Amino acid sequence: MLQQRAEDLHERALIGGVFYLLSWLLVAGYGGGWERHPRLSAVLVLVFVVLGVSRVLLRGWARRHPEQAGLGMRRQWAMLLATATLWGGISGWVLLDPAFAGAHLLTMLATSALAMAFAQIFAVNRRIALVGTGVLFLPMLSIVVFTFGQPGVALVLLLNLAYLVAVIGRSHREYEGKLVLEQQLREQRDRFATLSRTDALTGLANRGHFQQGLDERVAAARADGSALSVAFLIADLDHFKSINDRYGHAAGDRCLREVAALLRACFEECDALVARLGGEEFGVLLAGGDAARIAAMAETFRARLEHAPIRLADGSHFEVTVSVGLAQFSPGTHRDSDALYAAADEALYRAKTSGRNRIEMAA
Ligand code: GH3
Ligand code: MG
Ligand code: MG
Repeated sequence: MLQQRAEDLHERALIGGVFYLLSWLLVAGYGGGWERHPRLSAVLVLVFVVLGVSRVLLRGWARRHPEQAGLGMRRQWAMLLATATLWGGISGWVLLDPAFAGAHLLTMLATSALAMAFAQIFAVNRRIALVGTGVLFLPMLSIVVFTFGQPGVALVLLLNLAYLVAVIGRSHREYEGKLVLEQQLREQRDRFATLSRTDALTGLANRGHFQQGLDERVAAARADGSALSVAFLIADLDHFKSINDRYGHAAGDRCLREVAALLRACFEECDALVARLGGEEFGVLLAGGDAARIAAMAETFRARLEHAPIRLADGSHFEVTVSVGLAQFSPGTHRDSDALYAAADEALYRAKTSGRNRIEMAA
């Protein structure tokens, strides 16, 4: 949220400096400033150029240092307020100096326009928008009231000021609303992204996400030719249909959740991707290496499941066992991820046909 605010502020500040420079060039030009105060006029041009360029440079700095969003914002606000204060001072000087009479109307119009722009654009921070608009507008207003003694003009300026305050309030509320909405959209997008990768029943990765991980890791292993860098195991519950038939579908679901939790616990220490591939079939993708160690982990999982009965709410319980097929990637044997999948599947088939509740390694 802070970074979003900072980005918005730098974006909004980007071109505004040009208008202060143009305003001063017009006032100095039509008011005879260049003839009477050539050096001061040139210095003011330079100062407005520096302040305007600084806004742009600050935006670049902020993009390179997103972690310092707060500092970048404070610097940008300081730059903006300094520019506004400088213009407020210039307008006061010009309006009080009769030699600038030819540029008085121009100064008042420019000041009103600059104050309107400041109020509208920088209402993202209500307090600073009020201060900036005030330092721009109040010198002109007080001179019209106390020095010019023009009640009609003063009244119009007062109305103008009241309008600016209302604009600040409204723009601020709109901006805050927009920020909240954008935040909600981001959260919703992240939630959908997570949901699209997750199996709803167990909370594990789903088949699509798993397949993507398998494809990527196998492609990477093929690219650098590193054999044994990917291991893949399929775990399929034994006679699960009969569990559903005997204890009901809800008990089957509970069993699937417990198996998922156990799988996660058994493989959490290595960087494993654990997924429910569908039905009562689970997949584990490991950064391979030591085949004996992976087989030992699979064996731990198998044995723990065998000795951990699934308990139901009514106090009854049942045992469930699992058959596992395990394959390690080898560039000479497996052309792609499908070939590795098929090898693990074939090993699983052997585990099933040779009695279930066991682990078989792919050839
Ligand atoms: P095998 O030992 O040969 O693997 O036999 P099995 O009964 O486990 O395999 P089979 O493929 O015959 O049956 C799988 C069962 O899994 C059938 C289906 O009712 C059940 N099943 C699939 N998805 C779910 C689920 O989300 N919840 C529950 N409770 N059961 C499911
Ligand atoms: Mg099964
Ligand atoms: Mg199955």
